Amino acid sequence: MQVYIHVPFCESKCPYCAFGSSDDEFNKVSAYFKALCLDLNFQLKNQNVKEISTIFFGGGTPSAVNANFYDEIFSILAPLFTPKTEITFEANPNSANLAWLKHVKNLGANRISFGAQSFFEDKLKFLGRIHSREQIFKAVENAHAAGFKSINLDLIYDTKFDTKKRLLAEVESLKSLAITHLSAYSLTLEENTPFAGKKSYKKDSDTLAKFMIEQTQRAGFKQYEISNFGEICRHNFGYWQGKNYLGVGAFSVGFVDGTRYYAKNSIDAYITQPTHREREILSQSELAREHIFLGLRSIVGVDAVRLNEAQKKRANLLVENEKLLFKNGKFYNPNFLLSDEIALFIEG
Ligand code: SF4
Repeated sequence: MQVYIHVPFCESKCPYCAFGSSDDEFNKVSAYFKALCLDLNFQLKNQNVKEISTIFFGGGTPSAVNANFYDEIFSILAPLFTPKTEITFEANPNSANLAWLKHVKNLGANRISFGAQSFFEDKLKFLGRIHSREQIFKAVENAHAAGFKSINLDLIYDTKFDTKKRLLAEVESLKSLAITHLSAYSLTLEENTPFAGKKSYKKDSDTLAKFMIEQTQRAGFKQYEISNFGEICRHNFGYWQGKNYLGVGAFSVGFVDGTRYYAKNSIDAYITQPTHREREILSQSELAREHIFLGLRSIVGVDAVRLNEAQKKRANLLVENEKLLFKNGKFYNPNFLLSDEIALFIEG
């Protein structure tokens, strides 16, 4: 089973971010982690989990809270680990200091993911980030010193600051760091955030997206999903493959055997009712639709047996026109930037 654990605390709120997190409820951290342990115990028992393949601590900012808070969580999780369990922590360059990184490494973490977003100070400021370029380098250095071998950086591109020259410089900075993975996201102007509707903040440039992907690949990070490059993150890959996962924590979402589970979406409500879940049962056609969209935006591909006859016909037409590849019963998309267009065409 895969497990996602949500830590909804951030040192400050970035204006583009729509994730469930808060920067002024640190007085609730202790009560939150108590609720988290209760919830985790309940979900593992409820789904009869015998083994955990991947764990992802996301947020929010897991490094915004004292590393000791994770001790009890790991005492619950550790008996279910295998030697291959992938354990990722998201962290911010300003808060993941050496002591914090060493603590989570000693607990069993083997992958770290830093929200870097940019190596340019003006772009960092525009994105409301509170770390500097220097702190990104220091954070990666500390991660190595703590013993991490799998290190990801998140970058955002397609902002009003980005040009080919600047993106090249972002990639050059990446190359100078010994990291194994990059997540490069095109800026999204999310609803209900200060960036909503601010069209001038985003270039909306296919040329820049293409350029970013090309340069990232040239730097040695192989693309395996529209925004992900390098050594495959098994946890996220599991999402795209449609695998089951438990969601634990406020704002978390889980998915088990075709049903999606939504936890309470406020810290207070979650502390009061940590095991409460809203359920959404997905129909076969909704599941197939997800498989098409996720499969085409990644190297997962689309199983021909999941398509109806009309969809298969349209997919074969795309193979004839060299827009899709067909291999061992699966359709593969060689250009992830066209994934939504292709998915809509196949769906009909
Ligand atoms: S640190 Fe991450 S989760 Fe927190 S507000 Fe910024 S982008 Fe969102």
